[in-house]
Amino acid sequence: MSLQALADRLDALLPQTQCTRCGYAGCRPYATAMASGAAPPNRCPPGGPSTLAALATVLGCAALPLDPACGSFAPPRIAVIDEAACIGCAKCLPACPVDAIVGARKQLHTVITTQCNGCELCIAPCPVDCITMTDTGAALLDAQQLAADAIRHRRHYAAHEARQVRREAQRTAALAARTERLRGSTP
Ligand code: SF4
Ligand code: SF4
Ligand code: SF4
Repeated sequence: MSLQALADRLDALLPQTQCTRCGYAGCRPYATAMASGAAPPNRCPPGGPSTLAALATVLGCAALPLDPACGSFAPPRIAVIDEAACIGCAKCLPACPVDAIVGARKQLHTVITTQCNGCELCIAPCPVDCITMTDTGAALLDAQQLAADAIRHRRHYAAHEARQVRREAQRTAALAARTERLRGSTP
């Protein structure tokens, strides 16, 4: 099997929260590192024991206990913003890999609960610590639920990436148009 095909198989097993707790920039980079032998299959806390076992099976090695340096297993959680404390700084917005936070500068921000994947990446940028995590009430890392959630998280992340590409293209086009206008106004 090619390295790419192996990385695809491993990536398909990962929860797709893009939380970076594995020490990589997201699920795909971690899958690539495992496929090349650069990372062991025990660095994904959101995946729970069933995901770690499945990764080891694909790699043909024994399952390892979760590396405690990456965190610990926990039930699925979502972010909640204390709207009374939010100062509308918008610093949490770019941190979210699925655009689950809505708000604009100097306005209250809130989390779209059906979109939040529990990655916790919005917590550190908040200057007033008004984002907390709360249990969803779902079962502790149930394998079937994890698989269903991963499909949803992958879709939201792909939509986020597509929006980023569109925004970048718009920025580049606006800059090119401005440069053209400035050239045209130069005698
Ligand atoms: S969900 Fe797992 S593989 Fe994906 S970024 Fe988080 S720790 Fe890494
Ligand atoms: S709202 Fe926060 S915890 Fe939820 S997906 Fe976005 S960054 Fe992650
Ligand atoms: S970073 Fe915190 S204070 Fe700033 S908009 Fe987000 S939730 Fe509100």
